[in-house]
Amino acid sequence: MSDRDIIAAHSFIEYAWGGGFCECGHTWNDQQWREHHALHADHVVAAIREARTVRTVGELNALPHLSVVREGGKYGSVWERHYGNAGWKYLSGTFTAPVRNAPQLPALVLYRPDEDGIR
Ligand SMILES: [Zn+2]
Repeated sequence: MSDRDIIAAHSFIEYAWGGGFCECGHTWNDQQWREHHALHADHVVAAIREARTVRTVGELNALPHLSVVREGGKYGSVWERHYGNAGWKYLSGTFTAPVRNAPQLPALVLYRPDEDGIR
């Protein structure tokens, strides 16, 4: 699901008297609204971030060639997907290159050419 589709699935529906709920069914109580008016924006950003989080090897292998991910954790490395079944190429990290041949999971998708490609 693209970022655009996620945003469309989380439209904000406002009550006439203030506050509101998300089209996905997510709601906030009155106290939360009083304390933080950007709750819906935070909710949509969290939905996008979750959709871009890879948690299984199947999801990782389904990413297209040239996708770039960053491993979870404070010092996660950055990897790029090779063609076909050639696996992953280590690009960068805080420490020396890992002996692994694929990103650790979970990982955050930073770029995927079919959704983020420059045209
Ligand atoms: Zn929502």
